[in-house]
Amino acid sequence: MKITKLETFVVPPRWLFLKIETDEGIIGWGEPVVEGRAHTVAAAVEELSDYLIGKDPLLIEDHWQVMYRAGFYRGGPITMSAIAGVDQALWDIKGKHHGVPVHALLGGQVRDKIKVYSWIGGDRPSDVANNARAVVDRGFKAVKMNGSEELQIIDTFDKVQGVINNVAAVREAVGPNVGIGVDFHGRVHKPMAKVLAKELDPFKLMFIEEPVLSENVEALRDIVNQTSTPIALGERLYSRWDFKHILAGGYVDIIQPDASHAGGITECRKIASMAEAYDVALALHCPLGPIALATCLQIDAVSYNAFIQEQSLGIHYNQGNDLLDYIKNPEVFKYEDGFVSIPQGPGLGIEVNEEKVREMAKVGHRWRNPVWRHEDGSVAEW
Ligand SMILES: [Mg+2]
Repeated sequence: MKITKLETFVVPPRWLFLKIETDEGIIGWGEPVVEGRAHTVAAAVEELSDYLIGKDPLLIEDHWQVMYRAGFYRGGPITMSAIAGVDQALWDIKGKHHGVPVHALLGGQVRDKIKVYSWIGGDRPSDVANNARAVVDRGFKAVKMNGSEELQIIDTFDKVQGVINNVAAVREAVGPNVGIGVDFHGRVHKPMAKVLAKELDPFKLMFIEEPVLSENVEALRDIVNQTSTPIALGERLYSRWDFKHILAGGYVDIIQPDASHAGGITECRKIASMAEAYDVALALHCPLGPIALATCLQIDAVSYNAFIQEQSLGIHYNQGNDLLDYIKNPEVFKYEDGFVSIPQGPGLGIEVNEEKVREMAKVGHRWRNPVWRHEDGSVAEW
């Protein structure tokens, strides 16, 4: 079997899909996207196609090594997301070729289902308590919310109090047994992260996410001493080499690689195994589309330390085009009692609706991160 064609589709709300064709008619799908840089990643995929066309799609590990090493310059969100999408599509092809789900080729599933969480509150958290109650009424056992809006490197206590009030309202709305993840989203710098982590301790959170940016990971040494809450990090890390310092330094309790940013199934599987050896949990980042989510579930299936999966159904970004709109078998993502089953179909386990993809690629998107500014005019982390 040979790879004959790579084709990318920029589709709303903010995604990039990749279709890889073979001379035997087997097709694989991947989702190689960095939010806000879809066209750049599409260009990177197009460059990789020079090497891939004519190659045997089943030799995934070798292709991964070539894409990573033979470019000389390596790592970073663009390159690793392009590799991720190609890797996902090759695993989809391999599974379909053998007539089995990807997880069967990775040693077989260690769980039947995994807990999922739902986003509440959007970018500027408000009315989170009602949103949380609605989500829990739909069966979710865990929710995630943004902690704060803009927060300056040193800010006033009313901002801290605002975060506390929001989290307190959610905890009161959902009771003691629903998991609450609070995402600081890299918006918080070390001096305020320390304060917030301590103040949020009484609410028994499931985790605090990106309490500081991953490039400021040394700051976590101070923060972990202020809280008993598990610390999660990793959506902006892209390889084993990025994660090794985080794991060896003992900075985190949960890692959150994104299977569409961190080299795909091949790399995220290895990152998950590294974390297992440090007794660190896995919660794959996935505010993306259906191919990315199907990919995550394949990794969750075989990763002992996976405990929860992010998913984007109804997320604030998805208005008008949501998670289930591009697949013909949406039942694969049916959430029951707060869990989703591990997909059992061949390959990634989803049937992409190519007609819909082509139709929406004519619409496309130019999605960009919002640019926020502080009261004094300086740019704020979003
Ligand atoms: Mg996050």
